[in-house]
Parts: sequence; C-alpha cells; structure tokens
Amino acid sequence: MKETLAHLMELQAIEDELRDLRQTKNRLEALTKDNAETRTIFEEMLAERAAQIEEVRAFCAEKEEGIKEAEENTRRARSRLSTITSQRELTALNKELDVARRQNSQRSEELLKLMEQLEAAQADYEKKQAEFEALKQQMAEVEGELVERIASREAGITAQRARQQELRKALDPGLFSRFNRTVKARKGVAVVPMSQDGTCTGCRMQIPPQQAIRIQRMASIEYCQHCRRILVYTEGLEGSSVEAEAAEG
Ligand SMILES: [Zn+2]
Repeated sequence: MKETLAHLMELQAIEDELRDLRQTKNRLEALTKDNAETRTIFEEMLAERAAQIEEVRAFCAEKEEGIKEAEENTRRARSRLSTITSQRELTALNKELDVARRQNSQRSEELLKLMEQLEAAQADYEKKQAEFEALKQQMAEVEGELVERIASREAGITAQRARQQELRKALDPGLFSRFNRTVKARKGVAVVPMSQDGTCTGCRMQIPPQQAIRIQRMASIEYCQHCRRILVYTEGLEGSSVEAEAAEG
C-alpha cells in the first residue's frame, strides 16, 4: 500500500508539473497580449506629446517672427524721425513707436512663457521616454523568464508522459480513474499531504483523529471527508521510499 501511495504522490507531482506548464503558457499568452497593449498605449501617448512639443515649438517660431517684425517696425519708424516736419507728424510717429515697443515687449513675454513651457514639456517627454524604456526592459525580462520556464518544462514532458503510463499500469484501474476524476473536479489536485496538525492540506479541514491514525498507518487509501482528495502521510513515505529503493536494488 505504501508503494501505491508513493505512486499516487508521484502521479500528482507529474500532474502539478503539467498543470504548471499549461498555466505558464496561458500566463505568457495573456502577458504578451497585455504588454503589447501597454506598449501601444505608451507609444501613442509619447507620439501625442511629441506632437504637442512640435506645436509649442511652432508657436515659439511664430512669436520670434512677430518680435522681428515689431523690431523692424520700430527701426523703420525711427528712420523717419529725421524727415518729420510738424508736431502732428511727431505725435503720430511717437504713437507708432509706442505701439511697436508695446507689441515687442508683449511678444517677448509670451515667447518667454512658451519657451518655459517647451522646456518643461521636453523634460517631461524625456522622463516618460526613459520610463518607457525601463518598462519595456522589465516586460521583456518577465516574458523571457516565462519562456525559459516553459522550455525547461517542455524538455521533460516526454519522460513525464512515459512515467505517467508506467504509473497507470502499476495502479489499480479504479483508483487511477478516481484519481483522474478528482484531478478534474478539484483544480488539478487529487492527492494531498496530511499536515502535521492533522488537517487536509487541500481544503484545510480537520481530519477526524481515527482517520488520521489510519492515514499514518498507510494500510488503506484514505479520502478527505470534505474535499474527497486522497490524503497521504508524506513523512511516512519519505523514510520508506529509501528503504523500498534499497530493497529493490
Ligand atoms: Zn480536504
């Protein structure tokens, strides 16, 4: 019976690895999709910001053009100063100069504000870009880890399937099919160790003392009364497996 229990434990261990492989594959698939979406969102955001920066830059150029124009107006007005012949003309010219000066100072102020805005936007853009690079690297690392895990799991899959068949032959057919039914019904786990304080590690329920003793004796297949999983006294198996191997050799 100990051997049967050990076989069941081994069968469960193979089941765990196969399940882990499936789950890791699903996780990788979901993650790859999520990461691609995140990258697209980030890229769109960066492109939008780059476009905004370009816009501000264009405004700056416009303002600079306006300032040049105002300066040109001032210069032209001044050059007419020598040709003035009346007070009226002088007043008009002074007014013109005044307007040009005011225009110039207003545009300069606006330009300064725009340039500050541009600088802040550029700094922010660079920061976001660096964040994006770090994020991309992090995503690639996590994806890479999953790819590696899948590869290493897949490397052992043929041997595991073969061992599964061996164990199937070694076990009573009824017990084997019950194992498989429980695997399907109980999230892939049909065999669980009994904890040291006498609970089922599958559902955390307390095992009645009489049954706990039977589990420790390892003379029968014991099922948890709550989750119907097979309960195994693993401490008892650890010692015996060495003995069994020694006896076989
Ligand atoms: Zn249970």
